[in-house]
Amino acid sequence: MPGHWRAIMTDRSRRSFLKKSAGAAALALAGPQTLISALHADSFEQATGRIEPMPPGTVRLSPGIFKEQEEINARYLDSLTADRLLHTFRLTAGITSTATPYKGWEDPACELRGHFAGGHYLSAAALAFATQGNDELKNRGNDLVGGMAACQKKIGTGYLSAFPTEEFERLVEGKPVWAPFYTYHKIMAGLLDMYTLTGNSDALAAAEGMAGWVSDFFWPIGTEQRMRMLRTEYGGMNEVLVNLAAITKKDKYIGTAHLFEQPSFLDPLAARRDELQGLHANTHVPKIIGAARMYEVTGDRRYREIAEYFLGEVMAARTYAIGNTSVGEFWRTPPDELKGTLQWTNAECCVAYNLMKLERHVFGWTGDARWMDAYERALFNCRLGTQNADGLKQYFFPLAPGYWRAYNSPEESFWCCTGTGAEEFAKFADTIYFRRGSDVYVNQFLASTLDWKDEGLSIEQVTNFPAEKGTTLKIKSSGAAARTIHIRIPGWTTEDAEVKINGKPLDAMSNPGSYLAIRKVWRDGDTISLSLPMTLRQEPLLGDDTVTAALYGPLVLAANLGAGPADGPERVIHSGDTVPKNLPAADPLPKVAAAAGAGPDNWMEVESKSDLRFKASCEGAQYDVMPMYRIADQRYAVYWQLPEKKKQS
Ligand SMILES: [Zn+2]
Repeated sequence: MPGHWRAIMTDRSRRSFLKKSAGAAALALAGPQTLISALHADSFEQATGRIEPMPPGTVRLSPGIFKEQEEINARYLDSLTADRLLHTFRLTAGITSTATPYKGWEDPACELRGHFAGGHYLSAAALAFATQGNDELKNRGNDLVGGMAACQKKIGTGYLSAFPTEEFERLVEGKPVWAPFYTYHKIMAGLLDMYTLTGNSDALAAAEGMAGWVSDFFWPIGTEQRMRMLRTEYGGMNEVLVNLAAITKKDKYIGTAHLFEQPSFLDPLAARRDELQGLHANTHVPKIIGAARMYEVTGDRRYREIAEYFLGEVMAARTYAIGNTSVGEFWRTPPDELKGTLQWTNAECCVAYNLMKLERHVFGWTGDARWMDAYERALFNCRLGTQNADGLKQYFFPLAPGYWRAYNSPEESFWCCTGTGAEEFAKFADTIYFRRGSDVYVNQFLASTLDWKDEGLSIEQVTNFPAEKGTTLKIKSSGAAARTIHIRIPGWTTEDAEVKINGKPLDAMSNPGSYLAIRKVWRDGDTISLSLPMTLRQEPLLGDDTVTAALYGPLVLAANLGAGPADGPERVIHSGDTVPKNLPAADPLPKVAAAAGAGPDNWMEVESKSDLRFKASCEGAQYDVMPMYRIADQRYAVYWQLPEKKKQS
């Protein structure tokens, strides 16, 4: 458009966009001179260094839709007591406990017990302190660490868990057992988070003790038997051990981390082959996060190639419009083929949590905006909205029409997704801004403040996004040197996107799907305002062009199909089950009233841009349509049936 200057042209059809290694665009404004440079994603990290999250505690959310959810989550976490969380740890260590046990997956008879109580809870409490300054939850976390360390001391071998080592013995013997290493990983990760985010050094000592036990247990086991044991879900054992190595500078933990690698899974990925069909999704994403950390800590590029191929493949060939993957927890189909897979049991929430973690890493190596686009897609469509007003979380994300959201009970479920959800809703602040040297990356449009004291820089992001189609950055800076601020121009916006500096339109702009880099000496009171037009789009279900989702900007839209079930077992599941009993069959997909090949403008109408209200014309009905994240109690439809194109004779 006039006055705008395309820095770099890239092929942005979705398919090639996600599959190709897109270039990262950098546009620098240094005084009167304008400099454009393009770095191929592959050489980006080598040339410029890694892009990393801001230091913990530097970013706070401001009032808005995310802050509200963060507070609901914190209240839920605050309702759980240390003595009850510690109960099964104490019983396992032979320490008396009269506390009332929690139930579901924390029941004293459940093989996963401790995964939430001494794992996710610690991570969430540490995150709540880092991102919100929540001292109550930090203190609760400290109480837990103290109680758990006492259990570890009583046991005396370094072992620390809420179940006895007998579960690991069954793993050795090839007898049925749920997932002892998975739980062990959660506990170690929780302890490390308490160390890195709150400074609790007892937590680091406990994690090192746990790692010592793993070494003693796992090194003597022969390769063949170890490979058989690794067929049982082990979470991110490789990741947490690499993290421990990075923190302590002790290489021995890298060696132990390597014991958790499966050539049968990693080799095809290294050869860029998608052999994921038949695998359990949430078992495998954490293994790749471990590979990503192995690359970052050891520099071995094979791990990076594995992680980049895996993420690119899953996001391009196996995801639904909401930005998540899996059906009945598995990858059940060949790549690019999701036809007929819309069910209640789509898109386990943990998988989105783990994919988003992986996207943070790969973005850090490449600076490629597509990963922060993908992060945004998941954040707004399958994270926001998966917690109810009581802080209870979803497990599956039903994508068949006519279903509704169901949640865990407060004290009787404690699913994996309760745990990852508790972390997610405590860490919305952790991906909004990244840094590289003194550069700032503005990745996400959430009302927030970055206060980067070491750099004398503060950025207040004022926005009502996505109701507002853009954002404003208010800068305070005490530095005299030029600094580059990189702003994501999302792939979903149009060529009418615009940036103003101190109210004056910038006569240059980078493509949607890249970062705009603005370099200058920033002064107190400088503002950057970003206008990001949104349009209606269709995105077909992979493998079935007659079934489509509708999107507006980053938002997946959902039809309101009327009130869902009243409160009861179909809404809140008071057990370890993850699907309501007596589930009815799904509805048929709403059939859009439009000619074959018609775009969304022919059957969907924007009723209010500011209220994000839409209307869809379907056969026999008109539907009120809203962003999926605003669906709460209603039955809904995310996918729509398009008329079949007539075959050409
Ligand atoms: Zn889960």
